[in-house]
Amino acid sequence: MSELKQQLLTSADFLALTRANPDYLAPFSHTLSFGQSQRQVNMHVLDTGVVCFEPAAQTTDSDIVLSCAVHGNETAPIEICQQLIEQIINGQLPLTQRVLFLFGNPPAINLGQRFVEENLNRLFSGAHSQGEGLCNAERRRAKALEQFVADFFAQGAKLSAQRKRLHYDLHTAIRASKNDKFAVYPYLHGEPRNKEQLQFLLKCGINTVLLSNSPTTTFSYFSARQFGAHAFTVELGKVRPFGENDMENFADCQTALYRLLSGQELQLKPFDLADFNLFKIFKIINREQQDFVLHFAEDAPNFSDFEQGYLLATDGDQEHRVTEPGEAIIFPNADVAIGQRALLTVIPCSLDE
Ligand SMILES: [Zn+2]
Repeated sequence: MSELKQQLLTSADFLALTRANPDYLAPFSHTLSFGQSQRQVNMHVLDTGVVCFEPAAQTTDSDIVLSCAVHGNETAPIEICQQLIEQIINGQLPLTQRVLFLFGNPPAINLGQRFVEENLNRLFSGAHSQGEGLCNAERRRAKALEQFVADFFAQGAKLSAQRKRLHYDLHTAIRASKNDKFAVYPYLHGEPRNKEQLQFLLKCGINTVLLSNSPTTTFSYFSARQFGAHAFTVELGKVRPFGENDMENFADCQTALYRLLSGQELQLKPFDLADFNLFKIFKIINREQQDFVLHFAEDAPNFSDFEQGYLLATDGDQEHRVTEPGEAIIFPNADVAIGQRALLTVIPCSLDE
């Protein structure tokens, strides 16, 4: 048995293995067996930060992708995924569905940074190969991650038709959020939004959902668009260093994912639109001038709203003001390069927008 495999089976710590080999990990497989029950799970380590688990000799109906560390300093989702991996390897989580775990950007995890050279979550749906092409590690990684997801769903499709494809891309935001946790629901090109998925998000402690209304280069849009997966960018709170996360804050999400993977009843609350705060993107404000200023507190939480007429930003001579009731800000960043997005505003909306 290889040293790496031995190490993983002994420690169940795939995060440690990934961090020790941030650029490459030679693939290996192993069949995990769990005592009396005869239950078996096939484990395939496919690369650094990439591991797939499949129940052996058991019918599955879902292919589930759980990704984290697409931004390297977003530690809570990494800890959530590592804990689920550990529970699967130790047999504490009786896996009943196929699952692919992805630690998006291991070199950035080791640096404790959002990214090394380029924001990985702007490089999907082929963006990695545009412009200068595959010129840095993040671009190559985006391309590789796309292929792992494609292969994972393709293999599932060989097992049965009518499978449920899921992808939860787990993040924590740079800033606090007025509604602590929220999800971005990728643009579906007119397809209806899925209420059961919103119920599942609610189970994870998320009642605020931003309905994206255009194609993007995010990981979740890629999975939704390419594979028809129910895919979401899930923001679980504020970024903190390893060990400083209050994991109690993520308990609902951990429990919901545990139940999903182990095939337990999800106990979803009946759908009620009143349980949710739904928003759609209203304005995309790019920085076009050197002289660009945001006129609200630097630490203003995501989804903070302002009265109509409030001056949000000045960009040289141009003013950006609030024009709609309930218009709120998200993802402000005045320090972006000229031509890049500095701020989004959102407005309340209904599910079919
Ligand atoms: Zn992130």
